[in-house]
Amino acid sequence: MKVHNVEMVMSAVRPEQYPDDGFPEFALAGRSNVGKSSFINKMLARKNIARTSSKPGKTQTLNFYKIEEQLFFVDVPGYGYARVSKTEKEKWGGMIEQYLTGREPLVAAIQIVDIRHVPSADDINMYNFFVHYNIPAIVIATKADKIPKGKWEKHKKIVRESLNMLGDDPLFVFSSEKGIGVEAVWAEIESRM
Ligand code: GDP
Repeated sequence: MKVHNVEMVMSAVRPEQYPDDGFPEFALAGRSNVGKSSFINKMLARKNIARTSSKPGKTQTLNFYKIEEQLFFVDVPGYGYARVSKTEKEKWGGMIEQYLTGREPLVAAIQIVDIRHVPSADDINMYNFFVHYNIPAIVIATKADKIPKGKWEKHKKIVRESLNMLGDDPLFVFSSEKGIGVEAVWAEIESRM
C-alpha cells in the first residue's frame, strides 16, 4: 500500500473512546525500545507520526492511526519496561487486555521483536497471549540492518522456535533504517483486510 493519508485519530484508554468507523484494526505490540515507533513511521512513510521515544514506556494510551480511510494501526503501549510501577503495569495491562480480547474490528496483532536477540520472557508471554485468545499474529523481526544478511535465516529460526510460533503466523525480517520488509508486510496486511 502506498500511504498518502494518515490521521492520528485519538488516544484512548476506555472502549467508549475507540473509533467507530468499523475499519479493520491491526494492533502493534512490542517491548519498549524494540523499534515499534520506527516501524510505524516507516510503514506510514512519516518521519515522526509515532514518536520514537527517548523515554521508553511513556505512551500509556492506545493510539489509533487511520490509514487511507481503510484500516487502523493501533499502537499499544510498549511492554516490559522496568520503571513502570506495579500498579501502573496492572492498569496498563488491563487496558490492553480489554482492547485485545474484546475488540471486534481487530484482525491481527503485529508483534515486533529484535532480530538480534532471543525473544525475552515478555515477548514469549505476549505471543502466548495472542495464541490463547485466537488473535492471529504477524511477527516482525526488526533491526535487520544490524546483522549480516547471511545470518537472517538463523535468527528467524531462533525467533520462531523461542516463541513457539504457530505455522499459520508469519515472520518478517524488517529494518526501519533501511526500509527492508515494508512491501512484504503491507502485502500481508492487505491480504487480511
Ligand atoms: P519503541 O520504543 O519500540 O517505539 O522504539 P523506537 O522506534 O523509538 O526505537 C528505539 C531505538 O532503536 C531508536 O534509537 C531507533 O532509532 C532504533 N531503531 C529502531 N528501528 C531500527 C532499525 O530498523 N534499525 C536500526 N539500526 N535502529 C533502529
